[in-house]
Amino acid sequence: MKQELIFLGPPACGKGTQTNMLSEYLGFPHIDTGSLLRAEISKGTEDGIVAKSFIDKGQLVPPELVGAIIGKRLAEADCKNGYVLDGYPRSLEQAQMLEKINSDVDKDLDASFRAIYFDIDTQILIDRIVHRQSCPKCGEIYNKKFKPSKVENICDKCQVELKTRADDNEETAKARFETYYRETAPLIEFYENKGVLRKIDANGSIEEVWQRLLEAIK
Ligand code: AMP
Repeated sequence: MKQELIFLGPPACGKGTQTNMLSEYLGFPHIDTGSLLRAEISKGTEDGIVAKSFIDKGQLVPPELVGAIIGKRLAEADCKNGYVLDGYPRSLEQAQMLEKINSDVDKDLDASFRAIYFDIDTQILIDRIVHRQSCPKCGEIYNKKFKPSKVENICDKCQVELKTRADDNEETAKARFETYYRETAPLIEFYENKGVLRKIDANGSIEEVWQRLLEAIK
């Protein structure tokens, strides 16, 4: 049966790290709208130029733009057994759009859909964001304070220079939290009412959260 997994939780709750690990574990693609949008920005496309103006303010990129990117991506062959979708949907409108995309792609296919909610103490999150770094090649996420690379600013796996996201500054981070609570948090109830929500305690070490995640997807 196809396994469709989506993830909810505030910025820097650990979704990126855990969903990267999960995608490798399950053999499903890790699809992350933030990274897809940042790739458009790097390529200098029209979508990228529009996206940047919203990302820089900590606001959601317009739903049609993200919906078109996700619709195309989920229809690709590597998603046929399942996907790990990180950062989408982020509003009720996007959740409804995802239902439409799934029903178009799946047709008669048997699919199980689950929303995993990372429940976390939000006080530590701004600190996590402003020290965050990631590898532009493999996507590995580091943190200068909590999970530093062995050699400063260099990825342990790829030996390339780590990057800090342009929107990982305090001002934009605060706006991203506001956007999250206003637009995305209502999805917790939306998926709870559908009986597909699994809540996990996202406080603790990467390994502790990983074990809880494995339980939640069983
Ligand atoms: P992330 O990498 O998930 O923290 O996302 C970074 C930024 O990309 C967000 O603050 C939004 O501006 C934009 N973004 C990512 N995913 C979405 C989405 N599903 N809908 C709208 N904007 C998004």
